[in-house]
Amino acid sequence: MALTTVWITGDQCTPRNTALHGLDKHSTIVLFVESIARSREVPYHKRKLVLIFAAMRSFADDLRADGWTVDYRAEREDYEHPFREHVARYRPDRIRTMTQTQYGLDAALRAFAADLGHDLEITEHANFISTAAEFDELFARGQTRVTMETFYRKMRKKTGLLMDGEQPAAGAWNFDAENRKPPKRGMRFPPEPEVPPSVHVRDVIAFVERTFPDHPGVVGTFDIPVSRRDALAYADDFFRNRLANFGPYEDAMIAGEARLYHSRLSALINVGLLHPLELCERAELAYRSGEAPLSSVEGFVRQLIGWREFIWRVYWRLMPEYRTRNALGADLPVPAFYRDGETDMACQRDAHRTVRELGWAHHIVRLMILGNFALIAGVDPQAMTDWFWCMFVDGYDWVMVANVVGMTLHADGGFVGTKPYAASANYINKMSDHCGGCRYDPKKTVEDDACPYNALYWDFIARNEKRFASNTRMSLTMRNWASRDPAVKTAIRKRAAALRATLRAGGSF
Ligand SMILES: Cc1cc2nc3c(=O)[nH]c(=O)nc-3n(C[C@H](O)[C@H](O)[C@H](O)COP(=O)(O)OP(=O)(O)OC[C@H]3O[C@@H](n4cnc5c(N)ncnc54)[C@H](O)[C@@H]3O)c2cc1C
Ligand code: SF4
Repeated sequence: MALTTVWITGDQCTPRNTALHGLDKHSTIVLFVESIARSREVPYHKRKLVLIFAAMRSFADDLRADGWTVDYRAEREDYEHPFREHVARYRPDRIRTMTQTQYGLDAALRAFAADLGHDLEITEHANFISTAAEFDELFARGQTRVTMETFYRKMRKKTGLLMDGEQPAAGAWNFDAENRKPPKRGMRFPPEPEVPPSVHVRDVIAFVERTFPDHPGVVGTFDIPVSRRDALAYADDFFRNRLANFGPYEDAMIAGEARLYHSRLSALINVGLLHPLELCERAELAYRSGEAPLSSVEGFVRQLIGWREFIWRVYWRLMPEYRTRNALGADLPVPAFYRDGETDMACQRDAHRTVRELGWAHHIVRLMILGNFALIAGVDPQAMTDWFWCMFVDGYDWVMVANVVGMTLHADGGFVGTKPYAASANYINKMSDHCGGCRYDPKKTVEDDACPYNALYWDFIARNEKRFASNTRMSLTMRNWASRDPAVKTAIRKRAAALRATLRAGGSF
């Protein structure tokens, strides 16, 4: 009987793994390799390493319980030796794997297998719902860019999610306007569900602490599910206790309260434990049964079949050149406090504590605190992408490049968003409770105790005056800047230059 090896890598722990499709369990060996060298290529947050290795071990258990034969090679230095040992021992007739999510890796794996005398069969990715053709069709009439909203509506029609026949549920595609509430004083949130650590989690924590002691972040009380069963229970808790309030408070931020009503499901989806479609179907059920309002459910569905799919498709359409874009010529290094969290800016300090402890922060913290600061200060997009990639448990090249280079730093020249997500302290003060406890004053711009976001914001506008002059979505801001007194402009630019010089020299404030 011909023997097949199916190689499953870290972010492919999905029961829908397409490399397993159509294979006979009795003539297939499923191979897992934990590579220390790969995990050292960049300094990943410790919690991310724990999640990936423990998810691989749990998924291997699930496959064994389902009757598959598994060859699991734990804690190995590289891929090459265990892979060669596997081939020497089992002598497979063919080798299959699901496609990698990082540009260039499929080719590298093909070359690696060819060295061993095998043609690697590569199957489609299981955890996305769109096809490249569906995205490309939108450019068919010569368009150079397509909005997320256009693509999202196409995905709604394709999946039938929140559709009443040909029309969107309740007659509207988008409830964004209802989903921008600031936090309310004294808000209380449901308790975190308990995720008792499995044997695998305990073993892997010891392995990670021993092998990667210098990697950033803390493992802490490890509360991320690593098995499909625990991931489903975690998602169920979100649907029952948080989804109803997800929409209205999606953009709110509260000091010391990292999660609010967010799902914290991204890492579980990206590693394969959950599928976006099953989550959207469960969310739709909550709407249809009156458990959650449409504004929340639509907001959640849009994140998954809109933003997540859009980001994935942008990555594959524009790589490899996309990763190197730097349309605004930003060249500052990543600020020192992105590594040690030492800053007097209360919003930044809170964000870095959260990232250090959880390897996660919610979308608006990423976009409007961490990302916005890097945008207006002028931090190098590639260095910033690498920082995000390392520090987040849900970070992978495919999802970081378009989110950081595109959405956050506008370094793609406006492919992902027509307008940069740049904001002064005004936005942070409105959407959070950070400013009250900060040494800086969100209402001041040039004084010593003025919020750094303010001078940096206006300096960003001034630095890019020519570029944004023809951007209609920026016209109000550009007119505001143009109408200012020249002496005020000079003072703002002087303060911003001093702040940027401090950052360039590796200092903090
Ligand atoms: C600078 C920056 C970096 C980011 N890096 C990542 C990353 O490495 N990995 C990642 O999965 N997401 C990333 N995002 C997108 C988004 O912030 C996270 O998916 C989300 O915060 C994860 O938390 P959650 O699961 O509670 O999401 P929720 O707010 O509950 O949203 C539900 C789901 O929608 C999906 N989603 C929403 N927005 C996006 C988006 N822009 N891109 C991709 N998926 C999205 C995620 O799967 C998420 O779990 C980034 C966004 C920014 C601005
Ligand atoms: S004053 Fe500025 S630095 Fe301080 S919390 Fe508010 S926005 Fe952040």
